[in-house]
Amino acid sequence: MKAFRGFRDNPPLNYSAHDAGLTNLGAVADYEGVVFEDGTVAVRWLTRFRSTVFWPDYDTFYAVHGHPEYGTRIDWFNLVPDLEGRLVEVPICSMRGCVQPAVVWKSSSAANASAFCAEHDRQVRAELRADGFDV
Ligand SMILES: [Zn+2]
Repeated sequence: MKAFRGFRDNPPLNYSAHDAGLTNLGAVADYEGVVFEDGTVAVRWLTRFRSTVFWPDYDTFYAVHGHPEYGTRIDWFNLVPDLEGRLVEVPICSMRGCVQPAVVWKSSSAANASAFCAEHDRQVRAELRADGFDV
């Protein structure tokens, strides 16, 4: 099953006030979610006021809560059973629609994408080099 965690590194100041508790400031995920086979998304908020919310699809969820301006990072992974039936996390590519295993690579300059498969890793690095980044 495809799953994700969302982190927000630069939320509005009033979100991070001690008594607001509306974000974990990127150190800990603000939410985790799963994408069911029919595309339905369940999101569990991990901030002060816990809730569990269902969305018809990931794009609708992200349109409301994605907030690239807050520095949102989404880490994608697959939940797969090990030999004893326990679910373990296997990182998958952050590129939309891609479900290939991710190579380990993280970049704060690629918003909403932190790990890519070999093909998308080459593509993203080429794009960043074209923009003048040394990757
Ligand atoms: Zn990919």
